[in-house]
Amino acid sequence: MQGGEGTSIFIRTSSSGTPSFHPFPPHSMQLYTKILLGLILGAICGFFANVLGIVWLQNLFISLEPIGTVFIRAITMIVVPLVVASLMVGTASLGDLAKLGRIGGKTVAYYLCTTAVAVTIGLLISNLVRPGARIDQTTRDTLSQEFDEQAAGAVTLADEAPSVVETLINLIPQNPIQAAAELDLLPLIFFTIIFAAAISVIAPARRDAVITFFEGINDACMVVIDWIMKTAPYAVFAIIAAVVSRFGMDLLQSLLVYTATVAAGLLIHGFFTYGLALRLLAKLEFLPFLKNISNAPLVAFSTSSSSATLPVTMETAEERVGISKPVSSFVLPLGATINMDGTALYQAVAVMFIAQIYGIPLSVMDQLIVVLTATLASIGAAGVPSAGIITLIIVLNAVGLGAHVQAGIALILGVDRILDMLRTAVNVTGDLTASAVVARSEGENLELRPARRKVAPEEERVPAGTAGDL
Ligand code: ASP
Repeated sequence: MQGGEGTSIFIRTSSSGTPSFHPFPPHSMQLYTKILLGLILGAICGFFANVLGIVWLQNLFISLEPIGTVFIRAITMIVVPLVVASLMVGTASLGDLAKLGRIGGKTVAYYLCTTAVAVTIGLLISNLVRPGARIDQTTRDTLSQEFDEQAAGAVTLADEAPSVVETLINLIPQNPIQAAAELDLLPLIFFTIIFAAAISVIAPARRDAVITFFEGINDACMVVIDWIMKTAPYAVFAIIAAVVSRFGMDLLQSLLVYTATVAAGLLIHGFFTYGLALRLLAKLEFLPFLKNISNAPLVAFSTSSSSATLPVTMETAEERVGISKPVSSFVLPLGATINMDGTALYQAVAVMFIAQIYGIPLSVMDQLIVVLTATLASIGAAGVPSAGIITLIIVLNAVGLGAHVQAGIALILGVDRILDMLRTAVNVTGDLTASAVVARSEGENLELRPARRKVAPEEERVPAGTAGDL
């Protein structure tokens, strides 16, 4: 089954005629416009409460945070059933296991190349701007002291990280249910693919029954995602207003050049690398593509989690870009776990920044080590908030900055949340770009589809693919 065909998705349209106040009137706007509005309003409200120092308003916005947490938990709740069902249907209906190997090879090669490009952009821009050379010693010491305790926590977490060999061994789950329960996506993907491959070779009558079962689960997941996404604009408002209310604006000032360097690198990577890949390899224009997929990077920006955004990413790929299930169900969950261009680029800038602050020159050889280790560290980072700053410690140690790890991390921790939002949006855009590139390379006809129009159950039931606003 492809592109959510057969999914029945419903929304209540104005049938009663009684006007009522609604900040985001149903159907008057696309969902991404509503989410963007939530984001902008949240940022403005939080900003005013913060810079004007209106404590009660700051506290009010911070008290709204549980609304955002509920949204993130709800969307994360659907990750495991969706990944399993979608990968099961995608793989079992392929009918050609060699094709799966081919898709896998292309995907991993593409992911590694774009991540290495991202790190290179990060290094080039930080050599050019030299953000670390613009911080005086007093600011450096004050910042390091302020976040010292949290940085020590990050260092401890990094020390506990598994080695490369352990990571490879851990790909094979002893117990797939435990992997699912711990939201450990790589072993879960591994198990599901093996299981689906087995299903594809059993007797057709039984195979079809299992595939139909998982198709049903997949369709139900899509419906739940649509329901949850209706609350996204409000949740995004709550998350952003709370984050901005709490944000240390003075920190942003002293780390402005560093923050702007990361942001500029991410923009360059987003527009040029993805723009080129889409145009040359997927034969799609970047801006219309971005407009069509914007729900996913907006949710990624707000949640700072590729894994939590995964259901939105998968639905967007299938329904808004027309990517087939065999490709999207494989490329996207893998991408949410191992493809983090934004994280890798950020790590490159952070390492250069810390080295520049402490006056430690990094040779070309050192910077090549950064390309290698930041690529690996971003693969190792989980798709959850702040994962990138923990695996950054691996990169710092690899280039001999071990003595400055804790102080260096403390220095940049204050602005990490905002950078996490930006890099996660890029990570998710990278996953969606990859799925388009791989799908096109498999001869798929991609189509930037307009939003479906959804209808109320009591009015009309239509199969998905014909209506809606997601
Ligand atoms: N939050 C990022 C993600 O989920 C990972 C990171 O860079 O911290 O993609």
